[in-house]
Amino acid sequence: MFIVATPIGNLQDITLRAIETLKSVDYIACEDTRKTGILFKSLNLNSHPMLISYYEQNEKVRIPNILNLLINGRDVALVSDGGTPTISDPGFRLVRQCLKENIKVVSIPGPSAVITAISSSGLPTDKFIFLGFLPKKPGHRLKLLKELQVSNKKLEATVIIYEAPHRLVKVLVDLNTVFGNINITLARELTKIYEEQVSSTIEEFLKKYEKKKPKGEFVILFSPKNL
Ligand code: SAM
Repeated sequence: MFIVATPIGNLQDITLRAIETLKSVDYIACEDTRKTGILFKSLNLNSHPMLISYYEQNEKVRIPNILNLLINGRDVALVSDGGTPTISDPGFRLVRQCLKENIKVVSIPGPSAVITAISSSGLPTDKFIFLGFLPKKPGHRLKLLKELQVSNKKLEATVIIYEAPHRLVKVLVDLNTVFGNINITLARELTKIYEEQVSSTIEEFLKKYEKKKPKGEFVILFSPKNL
């Protein structure tokens, strides 16, 4: 079983090993077969292994099918729509089951928005807390952020959050409520043409996005340290 990272924007970020693996396996389990088909086309690969759709809602049904293929000696690669599968993407349940069945799981490393964002943020990288997507329910989100504020006081780890553009403002408002008007970094559209990484206070971002709706993919980062 191969866990294969794919680009988060710039297609040139695919690794040689990822291409070799995707060409050589018998099956590719992917979140969106259409997107994976497009990735193959962009790599000038005319044919590809059989694609199996694998996403959160069909995981339970797919895992036994994929295990069956692996037990029968087939090689399977897991890819997501972008970045490293299993990181805020489906896959860890499949990996767990493989390990339980003594099936070898090999990670083919490559892009992931969390590492791409922190490495160019200028924020401390020695310790970080990756929260992925925050809970959608406002009450749950605030509760988690309040718990984070207490638990991260001594640890002083850089915090990294994924967010969709339509929920960004709500999350910024909650961060402002819990942490106050701190400096944060927003990494947007990483590796893409309009890539940007901007640091400013939460209120300045809120003013900006009152005028212009946020667009694109975002990573939110901040350090509790007074830098
Ligand atoms: N598995 C992926 C990874 O390894 O980064 C993450 C998938 S998750 C469903 C998608 C989220 O990752 C987006 O909402 C955004 O927060 C972040 N993301 C993905 N690509 C990005 C990019 N090019 N720029 C900024 N954030 C990105």
